[in-house]
Amino acid sequence: MLLLHGTGIGLVAIGRAMVLDQQHQDIEIRELRDNQVEAEVIRFERAVLAAKKGLLEMQASLPASAPPELPAFLGAHALMLEDPLLCDQTTQTIRQRKINAEAALHHQANCLGQVFDAMEDDYLSSKKQDVHQVVERVQAELARDAAATVPFSENLEDRIIVVNDLSPADTVQFKHKNMAGFITNLGGPISHTAILARGLKMPAVVGLHGACRLIKDNELVVIDGSTGTVLVGPDADLLAQYQQRLECIRQFSAGLESLREVESRTRDGVEIALHANIELPEDVEAVTSINAAGVGLYRTEFMFMNREAPDEDEQFTAYARVLRNVSGPVTIRTLDLGADKQVDGGRIDTKAANPALGLRAVRLCLGNPGLFIPQLRAIFRASVLGKVRIMIPMLSSLHELEQVLDLVREVKRNLSRECIEFNPDVPIGGMIEVPAAAVAADLFARKLDFLSLGTNDLIQYTLAIDRVDDEVNYLYDPLHPSVLRLIRHTIEAGENNNIPVSMCGEMAGDPNYTRLLIGLGLREFSMDPATLLEVKQEVVSSEAGEMREQTM
Ligand code: PEP
Ligand code: MG
Repeated sequence: MLLLHGTGIGLVAIGRAMVLDQQHQDIEIRELRDNQVEAEVIRFERAVLAAKKGLLEMQASLPASAPPELPAFLGAHALMLEDPLLCDQTTQTIRQRKINAEAALHHQANCLGQVFDAMEDDYLSSKKQDVHQVVERVQAELARDAAATVPFSENLEDRIIVVNDLSPADTVQFKHKNMAGFITNLGGPISHTAILARGLKMPAVVGLHGACRLIKDNELVVIDGSTGTVLVGPDADLLAQYQQRLECIRQFSAGLESLREVESRTRDGVEIALHANIELPEDVEAVTSINAAGVGLYRTEFMFMNREAPDEDEQFTAYARVLRNVSGPVTIRTLDLGADKQVDGGRIDTKAANPALGLRAVRLCLGNPGLFIPQLRAIFRASVLGKVRIMIPMLSSLHELEQVLDLVREVKRNLSRECIEFNPDVPIGGMIEVPAAAVAADLFARKLDFLSLGTNDLIQYTLAIDRVDDEVNYLYDPLHPSVLRLIRHTIEAGENNNIPVSMCGEMAGDPNYTRLLIGLGLREFSMDPATLLEVKQEVVSSEAGEMREQTM
């Protein structure tokens, strides 16, 4: 039996491994659309740079005892990565044949291999091996950032996917499939991939380096998401213990079912609204079946992944479907694309060195009215069908907010001119997920109808930890005093300006924090439907007054 450790999500899963080792897979040819070609070239160039950096770092850190020829050898490999025959020819192939970087590089390496094979000089001919090694390094870098190629069409029931990394776009495709769990080499606990896994009630272990190498296809695997442990080939006793735990978990979930119809009130009568987070219109079924008060976060960007961008009419149809099915408020968040949520499942690379600090969410939308305006129009058109609220992600400056409000006014004017019916009083709210916005929450509160705390990003940006970087996620701490002060300050800003404050980050769906948040004055929570009943159990067994006193 092999025992491995990573960062756990969810509870227990038992299943047979399906190992998708991108580094050792046959190179797949993927055809690109015209608008994907330049991004693929950039992706290739970044992989070359990363491979070169790796070689030079290795060269600089060689121990004194290393063989004397080794530095020169590594330097020669780094130089090969500047060779136009390898690099320029590959970018040319990407552009001309419109294929992915892996396939173009593979093609070019084969061409070079044939040239070396034809050489009569043994020494020169042996250089083929060096080319091969250098190419492998670049392929490894490409695999590192590539999205997983998950066989969604296969029956994944009782399978545990083991993969280098999963993009949010891939993970969302797991919705409504019955896979038991997954294990990734990379990733952190609040990456969008992990959030989706939690919502799917899918136990997972992320950031388990070497998982693809250490776990073999079809091996029996136990995931313990509560400890981040993976047992590969468990012995009979341990397996029996985990099977028993799985049964207890099933019984516990069944026990929570009785809370569905129970009002969400504390013992001293304070109403706590429990809303649901959704990613796709299909998710409304879970919202209604769990009796959520409404949708507190609709992550609309997922509709833009794995496909061509939907136009205004298609978006209208999606929003209408949600509004027709949910009787409470539906908070539609405008596109939060960028950072780890790239369209095309992360296959389109970004030029930004720090994408989380770059052109993301409202910044991207304001720079792309062609993307933003159709979405706003679609939401306003759907506004006659239910209680819609519009929520703007990643606000950091009041100027940005003014620009958004100007656009909203323009959209309304145009709809009126076109005699299209809409509700002119749709509440506009903002996400507080950048520390600057939390500190200035009172200023935002004066111009908005509601605020919502996006704690996933608020924690990421406050503590300076990239939410997808597993090397720093040990620093992720929702209870850090700075985070709690920003939360308290935002709630007070809402109270002082008479507007509601909600929380829709993962913290809101973690029953360990429910009482604390009630004590801090939070009255509206939004979370994945999968965690709602556990949170409700905390609500109905707590006293808001007592919690308030304890958090003063
Ligand atoms: C958040 O940042 O807390 C949030 C809810 O938004 P997302 O996780 O989609 O970035
Ligand atoms: Mg966010």
